[in-house]
Amino acid sequence: MLNLEPIFQAVRQAAHICQRVQQTYLATSEKTGHEPVTIADYGAQAILGRAIQQAFPDDAVIAEEQGSQFIDLVPEDRRKVIVELLTDVLGQPVTQDQVVGWLDHGQGRSAERTWVIDPIDGTKGFIALRNYVIAAGLMMDDQPVGGVIGSPAYPGGGRIFHALDGAAYSQPLAGGEATRIHASTRSQAEQVRALESVEKSHANHERMEKVRQAAGLGAAALDHIDSMEKYARIAAGDAELYLRLPRLNSTRPFMIWDHCAGTALVQAAGGCVTDIDGSPLVFSQGKSLVNQGIIVSNGRIHDWVIAAVQQVLAEAE
Ligand code: AMP
Ligand code: MG
Repeated sequence: MLNLEPIFQAVRQAAHICQRVQQTYLATSEKTGHEPVTIADYGAQAILGRAIQQAFPDDAVIAEEQGSQFIDLVPEDRRKVIVELLTDVLGQPVTQDQVVGWLDHGQGRSAERTWVIDPIDGTKGFIALRNYVIAAGLMMDDQPVGGVIGSPAYPGGGRIFHALDGAAYSQPLAGGEATRIHASTRSQAEQVRALESVEKSHANHERMEKVRQAAGLGAAALDHIDSMEKYARIAAGDAELYLRLPRLNSTRPFMIWDHCAGTALVQAAGGCVTDIDGSPLVFSQGKSLVNQGIIVSNGRIHDWVIAAVQQVLAEAE
């Protein structure tokens, strides 16, 4: 069995960087005009890349950020801040060259295992002090088979979720025992807790409302949450449905780093993740998914939601 401890530690260190950036740099960003999120994104990805390089040196990586962007897009004074934050959190001297190496580690190669990294998923939530996650999914043979999701703003206290060998677990972000988690067994419409993106620009909220109505879930509890924390909540039995339908005429594909770790987690917890016709998400086509929409559920209500989506789509034609 793969020992994920180095990735748990990296997620904790990355969460530290994120919290430091929220505390220190968000407050000043409006005055200086700098994008605080950039620092945390690069810092978190560098930490994850470093951990993978040390613990799993032969593995491949697909990640959202690149070392060349760090050099080309981030002004020198900001790069220095990242190097200082990393030096502090890792407790060892860090150079800019090392940061670039960690950011790019494992990218552009193929291997038996591929880590799929979103260093900060839910950027808008991170900036607004809502929800965000630090995510490292694990793919083998183009399938999400495992992963780690750090969720610093999880209700009740930050958590690290992970999936490995077909089982899903949760542990406190601050440290503690990992315990098994399972998707809920709820199947009554009035018990269903639904989730969707906060951001109106990220999904078709109007159509998703129609689907809930068609599925008899019009009165179901509905929460708006940023990031892959939505997957974690379903895996942990804290919600039953997460619907993601693209906006009309959207040309923006789903990116694999936004769904890989979450898909592995929900499936390992006994839940279900599919396209809107019930077919699997397709992780074999590079950095984007070719799917039309995403339905994540506890499994029990899945077919029922697929039927509702199909009904709404047929009515829209
Ligand atoms: P969520 O918080 O679930 O909406 O997911 C956040 C993710 O949505 C980000 O990591 C982006 O990859 C993705 N995203 C950002 N902008 C858009 C957009 N305009 N349409 C669809 N997805 C987006
Ligand atoms: Mg993302």
